[in-house]
Amino acid sequence: MPVGRRPLLARWCHRAGMLPLLRGLRGLTRHDLRVLAYHRVLESVDPPGFDFDVELISASVEAFRGQMAYLRRHFSPMRFDEVVERIEHGRSLPRNAVLVTFDDGYDDNYRLAFPILREFGLSAMFFVSTGHIDSGRPFAFDWLVHMVCRSTAGRLQLPELDIDWALAPTLDARRAQAAALLDRLKSLDAEAQNALIVGLEERWGMRRAEAPADCRPMSWDQLREMHAHGMEIGSHGIDHNMLSKLPRERMVAEVAGSKRTLERELGGTVSALSYPVGGPDAYDGDTIAAVREAGYRMACSYIGGVAAVGESSRFALPRLSVERQMDQAWFEAMLTAPEVFAYSPRLRNG
Ligand SMILES: [Zn+2]
Repeated sequence: MPVGRRPLLARWCHRAGMLPLLRGLRGLTRHDLRVLAYHRVLESVDPPGFDFDVELISASVEAFRGQMAYLRRHFSPMRFDEVVERIEHGRSLPRNAVLVTFDDGYDDNYRLAFPILREFGLSAMFFVSTGHIDSGRPFAFDWLVHMVCRSTAGRLQLPELDIDWALAPTLDARRAQAAALLDRLKSLDAEAQNALIVGLEERWGMRRAEAPADCRPMSWDQLREMHAHGMEIGSHGIDHNMLSKLPRERMVAEVAGSKRTLERELGGTVSALSYPVGGPDAYDGDTIAAVREAGYRMACSYIGGVAAVGESSRFALPRLSVERQMDQAWFEAMLTAPEVFAYSPRLRNG
């Protein structure tokens, strides 16, 4: 179904009161796991003059509260450790099981999402890139968007990607250029991606160390507080590199090193990871083998969908991305019948 019709059909099903019936029927026949994927929750999904990656805003505070209320009332929210326990003891999941996840580790997760999760007595998994925690430094891809939005240079010239563009005059048009650039960037290996971003910083004199506050990652103290209140913390690598695009030794070091750091800083055992970026080109058989070898027990991709949890899916679980365009009716319909109403995520997002 074309994406444009999904919200319309979702609102129609919602108004017609069909969702409870659909949820009941689906729960009888399928025992799969819905894993929701969020990045950022902010006061607004379209803050005026916002010059970071707007596509990483998953929901407003108000929308997130409505989503968590619905989840609490009509689904079976679970924790990763409960799911792992059930898989490893051959027990099935409850009907309409759901996990809530966040990728990257933005500090709005602590400031705005965490209090709402507590309000509803819910737990969520926060997949964080450990190299960014406590650094105050924005994530490289987000910083790249910021530079393209704010550069005073006339042109964006990147011969390695065959790009020579006049930078657009409006913020909206700059955002579109940044999105196109991020898509092309995925063709490079991790080293070349980082070199390109650092090269632009130097050429344009835009230093990441002087970044404004609204793109800040969480601190270890914030993560410790969340962990102490029942939130789960997992790995999203060290430097948010696409793991399949790193030399093998560095890939293994990111997978195992991020786990060690999290366990040292937070105590306890870290059992889950989400692949940075997360699309089909962000991880491969070698990555999955390294994840198993390091002692993780589950891992998430950023590929859209739902799957029955078993040996074949537990190290590349698909997820349902929550997007800023979703109203409550669409969210409820997506959670009820993901096959019909899931948003096709742009793969660079994870
Ligand atoms: Zn990410």
